[in-house]
Amino acid sequence: MRAIIVHGGAGRWGEDRLKNALPVLRKAVEVGYSLLEEGDPMGAVEEAVKILEDSPYFNAGKGSVLSIDGSLEMDACIVQDEPRTVGAVIGVRRVKNPITLARIVAERTSHHIMYGEGAERLARIFNLPEGNLVTDYARKRLEKVREKLLKEEIGDELSLMSRTVDLIRKYPHLFIGTVGAVATDGKVVVAGTSTGGTSIKLPGRVGDTPIPGAGTWAEDGCGASATGIGEGIIQILLTKTLCEMVKRGFPLQEAANRVVGMTKYPVGVIAVNREGKTVLAYNTDSMPVAVKTEEKKEVEIHGV
Ligand code: ASP
Repeated sequence: MRAIIVHGGAGRWGEDRLKNALPVLRKAVEVGYSLLEEGDPMGAVEEAVKILEDSPYFNAGKGSVLSIDGSLEMDACIVQDEPRTVGAVIGVRRVKNPITLARIVAERTSHHIMYGEGAERLARIFNLPEGNLVTDYARKRLEKVREKLLKEEIGDELSLMSRTVDLIRKYPHLFIGTVGAVATDGKVVVAGTSTGGTSIKLPGRVGDTPIPGAGTWAEDGCGASATGIGEGIIQILLTKTLCEMVKRGFPLQEAANRVVGMTKYPVGVIAVNREGKTVLAYNTDSMPVAVKTEEKKEVEIHGV
């Protein structure tokens, strides 16, 4: 059974932003589904994520949040279950569509993860378009984050993360929303995720998104893409753990609920199995999601 599910990031979504974001999610899932019909699940995930990267309403590609020094560092990852195909990029700054670069790493190099300047060089070899990806919204958001951080006392290193989480919980609108897509054509499952990272991050920080098994994974007919505070997702290798649970016999929805319940961090996940079942789970205010399956044919919106 064919199925595709895409998410626009876990967090708290303002009404206006959501109104702009939902049609883009719908379009992403429609385009992804048509590629599934053409028998191209890898293309389905890539194109769905690309559409979200090209929109300023999501924290990926254009619209990415900025590091605390104002720099842009984007991460992306794509994974297929069988034959296992893994590609990820870390800290790219100019590439318009990091998910496409992740796919190039997976399919055109012998590596799985590339970062920084070397990854950008690969993008140039393959003539990937560059873009001006910093939006006014991202700049304003950074100013707000800086303001809040300056008002807080500087704690010791050990309390740094919990302070950061407290702050983000207090100002959840500051960290929407990474994008992801998971699709199956009934034979293979592909998962992809793309992000500008979290709002409160030091330059050089790497989140869960480009870490295979943390933010993005596919294995044995199960695939998942996570969103939220990456540190919490890395701690439990959330997407790998979800697929492992499914292998041990947990129904897909229960596995998704359990992994989200395993962390105190704000997180969310979407998942698909080879049978075409799609699920979502999150512990944040919302996580807008669009789904299209062979069974229902209509696009459904969830998580808002
Ligand atoms: N998971 C992403 C990160 O930590 C952020 C997000 O999902 O909004 O980099």
